[in-house]
Amino acid sequence: MSLLTRSARTLFLGELLYGMSLTLRYFFKRKVTINYPYEKGPLSPRFRGEHALRRYPNGEERCIACKLCEAICPAQAITIEAEPRDDGSRRTTRYDIDMTKCIYCGFCEEACPVDAIVEGPNFEFATETREELMYNKDKLLANGERWEPDLAARLEADAPYR
Ligand code: SF4
Ligand code: SF4
Repeated sequence: MSLLTRSARTLFLGELLYGMSLTLRYFFKRKVTINYPYEKGPLSPRFRGEHALRRYPNGEERCIACKLCEAICPAQAITIEAEPRDDGSRRTTRYDIDMTKCIYCGFCEEACPVDAIVEGPNFEFATETREELMYNKDKLLANGERWEPDLAARLEADAPYR
């Protein structure tokens, strides 16, 4: 660009006018940003967020303490202890996930034969301390109760592809 052209652009505020015309052009276009956290983008049914333990509709825990999820977890984030109940059924007495180790690979969910442990749609579970990310069975079951309608819909939507 010659000195003359550059001087003319500076003199007539060319860059400023170009910038303002660009702003004006985008002012009337459809917005691509969203007002998070009041608006949220769509999530895939396969999104792997916070873990939850699910129950059957009658309230019984789905988990049968087979420990497949514990065995397959590459981060060794899951710790399970189990005992038979009085009725002979096998249930966990301890189900912990160290969420600071979890890499959200989804293997635990895929290994589970009864859709008990799942990764739900919740991605807003940041904490201020590491201790809060040590999930126990009560926390995971509470997550399951909170998110069950979403979890069931998500599993149903993904079922034809599993
Ligand atoms: S998502 Fe992967 S890393 Fe996290 S608990 Fe499940 S198997 Fe382990
Ligand atoms: S959550 Fe599923 S895979 Fe893990 S112990 Fe329970 S039944 Fe087995």
